Amino acid sequence: MQGFNLFSPTRIIFGEGKIKTLPEILPINSNKILIVTGKNSSKNNGILSTVQSILADTNKKIFIFDEIKPNPVTNIVDLGSKIAKKNSIDLVLGIGGGSSMDASKCIAMLVNNEGNVKDYIKGKKIINPVLPIITIPTTAGTGSEVNQSVVISDLETKTKTGLSSEYMFPRFAILDPTFTLSMSHTLTVDTGIDALTHVIEGYLSTKATISSDKLALESIEIIKEALPQLVKNLKDVSLRTQMLYASMLGGLVISKTGTIMLHAMGYPLTTFYNIPHGRANGILLPTMMEFLKGDKIDTINYIFRNNLRKFLNNLGISTNLRDYGIIPEDVIRFLDNVWGRRNFTVTPKLVTKDDIINLYKQAL
Ligand code: NAP
Ligand code: ZN
Repeated sequence: MQGFNLFSPTRIIFGEGKIKTLPEILPINSNKILIVTGKNSSKNNGILSTVQSILADTNKKIFIFDEIKPNPVTNIVDLGSKIAKKNSIDLVLGIGGGSSMDASKCIAMLVNNEGNVKDYIKGKKIINPVLPIITIPTTAGTGSEVNQSVVISDLETKTKTGLSSEYMFPRFAILDPTFTLSMSHTLTVDTGIDALTHVIEGYLSTKATISSDKLALESIEIIKEALPQLVKNLKDVSLRTQMLYASMLGGLVISKTGTIMLHAMGYPLTTFYNIPHGRANGILLPTMMEFLKGDKIDTINYIFRNNLRKFLNNLGISTNLRDYGIIPEDVIRFLDNVWGRRNFTVTPKLVTKDDIINLYKQAL
């Protein structure tokens, strides 16, 4: 058996109603809490007020930073860290999808590490432990609640960059499936496919291990069964529970394996065409699978009965880039955005610039 090195320090509290345990897990010396969330959804679906009322019974001082939009950008994360510093925040609570959770982790990092987030995008090292982080996901997709990575967008350079540090593992993640019930059909699909691509990429990564493969395959099987049923019955708590679990497994898998070429190739679809993150990956998934080939691809194809493209199409995801307005002339700027990303170092095949161009062209 191949050796491995496993570190998953986030305490995961999973189940319906588990949000009530939040006061019990707050560290005694954390007195000023910054809730990091988005502008709308956590208010509209009542999650923010639920958390606030649970926290009202503690003697903690609560601050709210609700400026996070999908694909969090550098200046907003910097602003959040300034507010955290000014108010001597000692714990960050991220509530929302991957965008709010990533922003919360990054803010917790910037409070204890000098400079702004662009410095870290340019390569500055995260050298200090970060503020304690608690994550509460309201989508079932990114797995950010249990991993050490964040993805931050730079509007100037039109790039999305992943930052990673063991210090950014959340201390606690509370996964309450009822918090994902308010997701629309489209958001359910987009985030569900993000989770699927995490586990497929994690399974294919050169950093995959015997244990990450087990988790990845379990997650693929769950998503394959649950997601098509869930889109027909968005309020089914049992299916929501399965998807949240599968997505969390994805977070654990990629915390070990990283994501491979697919996530890199999906980023420009989001930055140039505003295609949601998970959908961007789903569009290109069959093309990447045909390119990589091999035993592990055969296993995935077997699970999907050689019909992964149909599986995606049935969920409403077209796998043709043209359907999203993308034109052949875009391919070169996509290549510039993608080339050199570390995802290619864990992809199980050498990928050339021509390969990338051809893959985008095939997906047109
Ligand atoms: P998201 O960008 O966090 O949220 C998308 C939209 O869904 C937002 O408008 C949000 O509203 C809304 N929303 C969230 N929860 C909802 C709910 N329960 N009901 C109704 N609406 C809800 O989506 P995401 O796909 O979870 O996260 C994507 C981000 O995570 C990207 O930036 C991606 O790069 C990153 N990512 C990170 C990792 C990682 O490992 N760290 C992995 C994959 C992806 P509000 O704006 O009002 O909140
Ligand atoms: Zn992703």
